[in-house]
Amino acid sequence: KRQEVPASVHGIDPQLVDRRAVDVVRTLKDAGFEAYIVGGAVRDLLLGLKPKDFDVATNATPEQVKGLFRRAFIIGKRFRIVHVVHGRGREHEVIEVSTFRAYLDNTAAEQVSGNEKTSKAALAGMKHAVDSSGRVLRDNVWGPQDEDAARRDFTVNAMYYDPETQIVVDYHKGIADANARVLRMIGDAAARYREDPVRIIRAVRFAAKLSRLGFALEPKTAKPLVASEHLLQEVPQSRLFDEMLKLLQTGHSLASVEQLRKLGLARGIYPLLDIVVARADLPMVKAVLADTDRRVGEGKAVAPSFLLACVLWQDVQERWQHNLARGEHAFPALQGAIDSVFEQRIGDVSGRGKLAADMREIWAMQPRFEKRSGNQPFGMVAHIRFRAGFDFLRLRADVGEVEEELVSWWQEFSIADDGRREDMLAQVR
Ligand code: ATP
Ligand code: MG
Repeated sequence: KRQEVPASVHGIDPQLVDRRAVDVVRTLKDAGFEAYIVGGAVRDLLLGLKPKDFDVATNATPEQVKGLFRRAFIIGKRFRIVHVVHGRGREHEVIEVSTFRAYLDNTAAEQVSGNEKTSKAALAGMKHAVDSSGRVLRDNVWGPQDEDAARRDFTVNAMYYDPETQIVVDYHKGIADANARVLRMIGDAAARYREDPVRIIRAVRFAAKLSRLGFALEPKTAKPLVASEHLLQEVPQSRLFDEMLKLLQTGHSLASVEQLRKLGLARGIYPLLDIVVARADLPMVKAVLADTDRRVGEGKAVAPSFLLACVLWQDVQERWQHNLARGEHAFPALQGAIDSVFEQRIGDVSGRGKLAADMREIWAMQPRFEKRSGNQPFGMVAHIRFRAGFDFLRLRADVGEVEEELVSWWQEFSIADDGRREDMLAQVR
């Protein structure tokens, strides 16, 4: 089953391979371990895409890996890996090194976590995660490379690349599937979705990402998706939120919406995502999704707060109008609207304090853009979230919600010197 495929067949361009990943592999191999670039990076390299990050897989344990590098940190409890850090500050780069894991089906995993008799592979891994839950144990049981391949999700995500010999190790016909543009779940798809329902969302994400290269989900992989969707109810909300952001913020949001609709998953994955899909054709939402995809494609940063502020702006406006109609003053009416939208749509996704605060500020700034008098505008341009608030205003003008003149005024005001600013203020009065 193990196939070693040479460069003459797979055609990976060594130029696309990150030098630091190559260094990490070499260090591990020099110390006598097996080490490969693995997963998404190999898939992208095979397809001629530039991988956004490089993961390394090895038979060294996290402690052994840590011992080989000057700056390496063991992280994660559920899934212990080592971050090998190169460079400093904004330039720093992290190579994730994970130890080959055993493939345990649900029965085997129960044996590991219970007091039942355990398999040899399980015992070998036990000491690395003793007093933890079954799930944690199961994810940290080391095993041979073929089992590490089998526990991965898609055949194209389960290949290993040795940058020195340039050989790709392929256990599940990943290269053939890449050539045929097929996304195929390893093993029985329905069982794999049961094991980890997040794979349902991953199926959508990769189908979206690779659709422009002509990829499609293999029918047996796609078929159980709808019937498996309810399994996502047992996944923690925070993990679903993160997966939603990966669908929306990795450069393929429009394609993701299209796949969700096509695959029959337009509703039911996560409440906020349902709203995004339902509203994806509204001008404001469509604009922010297209803009997000463009920015990611250009390597620019994107903020989830901005995207979600656009998606939920309609609710804020409706609620705001409602409060105004009840005779509330403009500012408290807006604050009240923002509060109720949060209560209704966001709930408490814990640990999202910053995101929530940013969304509130983007919204609360909007009526202040209409007040071009006194000291207000000076305060606005000094605001640390001015850029986000302004970009939001820009988008509102693009969809015809505010005058273009207002946007160009603020654009100029934000870069003008104080003298010019006084003139600009005098002119609007
Ligand atoms: P991306 O380019 O979006 O990062 P990726 O394939 O690298 O895609 P990651 O989430 O970074 O995806 O995961 C790295 C690898 O780990 C995957 O390629 C896959 O082999 C494996 N993997 C990750 N999540 C799962 C999962 N839920 N089930 C099985 N295998 C997984
Ligand atoms: Mg990755």
